[in-house]
Formats: sequence, structure tokens, C-alpha cells
Amino acid sequence: MTKSNSRGTLVAGNWKMFKNLAEARQLATDILAGLPRQESTRPTVGFFPNAVALAAVAEAANGRESQVLVGAQNLYHEPEGAFTGEISADMILSAGARGVVLGHSERRHIFGETSEQVGRKVARALEAGLIPVLCVGETLEEREDGRTENVVEEQLLGGLADLSPEAASRVVIAYEPVWAIGTGKTATPEQGQAVQQFLRTRLGDHLGSAELADGIQILYGGSVKPANAKDLIAQPDIDGFLVGGASLDADSFLKICAATA
Ligand code: PEP
Repeated sequence: MTKSNSRGTLVAGNWKMFKNLAEARQLATDILAGLPRQESTRPTVGFFPNAVALAAVAEAANGRESQVLVGAQNLYHEPEGAFTGEISADMILSAGARGVVLGHSERRHIFGETSEQVGRKVARALEAGLIPVLCVGETLEEREDGRTENVVEEQLLGGLADLSPEAASRVVIAYEPVWAIGTGKTATPEQGQAVQQFLRTRLGDHLGSAELADGIQILYGGSVKPANAKDLIAQPDIDGFLVGGASLDADSFLKICAATA
């Protein structure tokens, strides 16, 4: 489905803590083999493997950088230092990657990351020249309490804190309702559109420019599959997907890509 805006679409696979080095390289190779080659001003496909596999996946996508964004799943906001177990923006760049997923709900809910910490990471990613994919999303309890907008707004504004409007406009946003992640329960296209439209409006207010907000890609994530991708991407404020489970199989990921092409 062709969008009438200039944002383009991005289908990004969050491979989470799956796939060892050889498996991740193979998955990237299989997807790339099935993906029609294309030059574009913004990447249309993203691979977010674990940190161990990052360099191998970036190497597999070598020469297709305009089409494929390879990125990490997290970073630490300090440039370097005694932070055992963490990886820096510079390390990600040195692996040949150019993006990073930040504030994923698993980071927020399992590892206790706050919006303030996520904001520092987003700022560091931009400063280093990485494209951050900032994730926001409410839990089922928050939705049922009528707090969806408050929650995603707090996560959005926390993630963009202290950025200039120009810097903030380089962030990709991913709306991922926590109750839809890995559960097989997808938000309806209308539910996704309603929150994503709200996020774009708040972005416009925050940046003081509806025009800048209009250029920001907002992805949807939460049990996206080949069977529901077409209906979701038809919504005006859904600019692509962050895909977990279905991104681990080349065939299903390629079908989702094809649904947005
Ligand atoms: C995710 O983890 O970002 C995600 C959307 O997972 P799934 O597609 O499996 O729901």
C-alpha cells in the first residue's frame, strides 16, 4: 500500500535475545536474498539483532545501507567507562550498525528503565549519529484504567527531553502496547491509529511544528503478522512496524515487508 505522505515505511525486526551468531547471520542473509533491491532516501527494513551478532549482521547487509538499517537493542548513555555489561554508541557504530532500539517495554518492565534514563540514551544516540527507535506503550491495566494517553505521553516526552526540535525530528517512534507484545493480541487498526495520531499531535505541540511532526515515522508493534500487516499499514499514522516473533522467520518477515511495499 502506498502512503500519501513522504515519511516512507520501515519494517524493523527486533530479534530480542534469540539467534546465536551463526543463526543471526543466516537470518539476515535469507531475508536479504528475498528482499527486492531498492535505493531509498530512508531505510525501509531494519534488523535489530543481539549485540554479539551485530557486526556479522551489519556485514551481511553491507552495500544495502540505504535500504536496510542495522541496529542494536540498547546502549548506555556514557561514551565509555567502567560500566560492566553495557555497550556504548561508539561500539555500535564500530560494528557497522547505525540504529538502536531504546525504551523497549521489556527494558522498562523487566529491567526497570525509567523514561529519564531512556531520554539520556536517546540523546546520546543522536549525538553519536545513530538513529534511535524510541518505544512507548501502555500495559493492559493502564489501558483499562483509561490512562493510555498519559502513559505514552510521559514516555514520549521523557524520551525526547532536552532535545532540540531538529534533533527530536530524527527519532523514529514505535508505539507498542505492552498487552499486544508477544501475546498474539494485536491492537485493532483503529486502536493503533488513535494512539499514533495522538502521539503525532503531541509531537507537533512539543516541537512547536506540525510540519516536523508530520515527517516523523511512527511504527506500530505488537503481534504484527503477515495476516494483519495490510490492515494496520492502511492507517494514516502507522508508518511501519517493529516486529518481534514474526521477524525471526525470513518468510514471515518478508511477507510483512511485502504487505507495506
Ligand atoms: C516487540 O518485541 O517489539 C514486539 C512487537 O514483539 P511481537 O511482534 O512478538 O509482539
